[in-house]
Amino acid sequence: AIRETAQSNAQDVVELAKRHLVQPWPTAGEVGAEARPLIRGGEGIYITDGAGKRLIDGPAGMWCVNAGHRREELASVMYEQAMLLSYNTPWYTMSEPSAVLAKRIADYAPGDLNHVFFTTGGSSAVESALRFMQFYNNVRGRPEKKLILSRGGAYHGSTYLSASLNGRPRDRDWMDGADDLVVKLSSPNPFRRPEGMSLAIFSNMLVAEFEETVSRIGADKIGAFIGEPIQASGGVIVPPDDYLPRIRKICRDNDILFIADEVVTAFGRLGHVFSSGEEFGLDPDIITFAKGVTSGYFPLGGMVVSERLLAELRRSNHPTAMYAHGLTYTSHPVGCAVALANLDLLEGGILAHAQAIAPYFQEQLRTLEELPLVGEVRGTGLMACVECVADRESKNPLELDTSVGMRIDAHCHELGLLVRPLINMCVMSPPLVITRDQIDDMVAILREGISRTMDDLRREGVWQG
Ligand code: PLP
Repeated sequence: AIRETAQSNAQDVVELAKRHLVQPWPTAGEVGAEARPLIRGGEGIYITDGAGKRLIDGPAGMWCVNAGHRREELASVMYEQAMLLSYNTPWYTMSEPSAVLAKRIADYAPGDLNHVFFTTGGSSAVESALRFMQFYNNVRGRPEKKLILSRGGAYHGSTYLSASLNGRPRDRDWMDGADDLVVKLSSPNPFRRPEGMSLAIFSNMLVAEFEETVSRIGADKIGAFIGEPIQASGGVIVPPDDYLPRIRKICRDNDILFIADEVVTAFGRLGHVFSSGEEFGLDPDIITFAKGVTSGYFPLGGMVVSERLLAELRRSNHPTAMYAHGLTYTSHPVGCAVALANLDLLEGGILAHAQAIAPYFQEQLRTLEELPLVGEVRGTGLMACVECVADRESKNPLELDTSVGMRIDAHCHELGLLVRPLINMCVMSPPLVITRDQIDDMVAILREGISRTMDDLRREGVWQG
């Protein structure tokens, strides 16, 4: 019945959306009046649009549909759990799936991170981690130790405090934030490092900036550093190898909590359940996660917290002080049940597949560097970014006026691929079940989409490459 309704009235849906739906991240000129491509179905790595056209889901939704669309194993578990227990209050009760999932997640987390607090997504996970840091320092009698270090290029969410950490261009131009609580550092973006500088010197420069900031402000004022191991929405920024471990050490030496935001990099995107330990040799104090934990089938996120911090709280002089923080949907039984089934799928072959296919994915995408509009293709695991530039010398990103990413996306949609355009960049992070043939299709379409964009730009006289 859902399908029949769906086929009959695609245009009506568009009209309803334009009249009544407020879409995320709208401009003032379009708010509440915008039609976006209608997506009606999905299977494996593909989605189907309102016209019935099949597209490769290049960004896997929003880096989240890791196990792929239309997995019977996930859908049926959601149904069964809802029929058994659809909801229980986490204020006074608890459910079996939440406790079992916490244990399984803790087993994968590095170091002594063995307790999990569940939220409704990534922003609420980050918010929970930061509020935990504030609570932790209040209980320890360090109420001044609250500043948060974040970085240019970061994306940590859309709630007030998490959004205050964001450092991507334009995110904060028209939006307020808790600026008095946050200190911004440079993005560890090797592509945009000073001309002629080696990666080693670049890393030293970033570390020196961090040390200088800590000594200028005072470690007694700084509660936490938060960073994505790979800045995802900032354009898949892979930092120099030694940079994160060095920052981790400075944090430890200065009693600053190190929060790894693994909302994107966990649950298989880099071939591991968590990447902090296995990929980057890190043992954070807190890891935040979301998205891939349920492969996007249910809005769930959370944070994994170090036993050391919890033990300190339990031993404190304020055993009745309350972490007054929790969401109606904290530990949601349906979300936790589907996350358990999703972990089964990851363990049952998807993690191994992601590890095996990632080099081919990266290698094939890098062939796009042959195109003169492409400045760099970078990434690791199953996340990559194609960054377009006016020319490789100036690295001018051709930004606002040309909207290169949007143009490439429009051509690729015609050709059968959904791209995630970010100003002058295209981010590719498909479902982890993608095969070699499907990677070939994806790269061929992207190549053609970029070529057509180059033709357009030449015809319009805005680019002569
Ligand atoms: N942290 C990171 C690294 C993200 O990429 C995102 C979303 O893209 C978030 C946090 C926010 O997650 P959500 O949109 O689920 O609130």
